[in-house]
Amino acid sequence: MKRAIFPGSFDPITLGHCDIINRGVTLFDEVIVAIGENSSKNYMFSIEERKVFVETTFKNYPKIKVMTYSGLTTDFCKEIKAEFILRGLRNPVDFEFEKAIAHTNRKIGEIETIFLPSSMETSFISSSIVREIIQYKGAYKNLVPAAVKTFFL
Ligand code: ADP
Repeated sequence: MKRAIFPGSFDPITLGHCDIINRGVTLFDEVIVAIGENSSKNYMFSIEERKVFVETTFKNYPKIKVMTYSGLTTDFCKEIKAEFILRGLRNPVDFEFEKAIAHTNRKIGEIETIFLPSSMETSFISSSIVREIIQYKGAYKNLVPAAVKTFFL
C-alpha cells in the first residue's frame, strides 16, 4: 500500500491545494490530507472547520482521507504507516524552503518527499492571500473550492 500524506495548515484549503491532491492521488494508493494543529499559530478557521472543508471537497473520492495531527510530521507518518510526503511547489522560494524540510524528514524519519509543480492556473494562489481577501470581504470565490464558498452564505 503506497500511502502519502499531504501536510499543511489548509487555512483554508484553496484550488492550489486541490490541484496537488487531485494529481497526487494518481501516484499513490491513498493520500491523507494531514491538517496540522500548531498551538503557536493563529488560524482564521478552527481545526474542525478546516477539516470539514477538506472532507466536503473530497467526499466522493475514496482514495483521499482527511486527518488532523500535531507534533512532528515524520512521527505522524510513522503512526499511520505513510512512507511518503506530498508537497506542492509554486516557485523557487517554496523550493528552497521545502528542500531543507525534505532533507530533514529523510534524515530523521526515513520519509521520502515527492514534489509536484503547481499548475499554471493555480500557482499564484496562497491561503494567506485568500485569508486577506476574506478579511476585507473581497472576491475570493474563484480561489477556493465550493465547501469554503458556502461557509459564508
Ligand atoms: P503550510 O502551513 O505548510 O505552509 P499550506 O496549507 O500553506 O501549509 O500548504 C500545504 C502544501 O500545499 C505545501 O506543499 C504548499 O507548497 C502547497 N500549496 C499551497 N498553495 C499551493 C498552490 N497554489 N499550488 C500548489 N501547491 C500549493
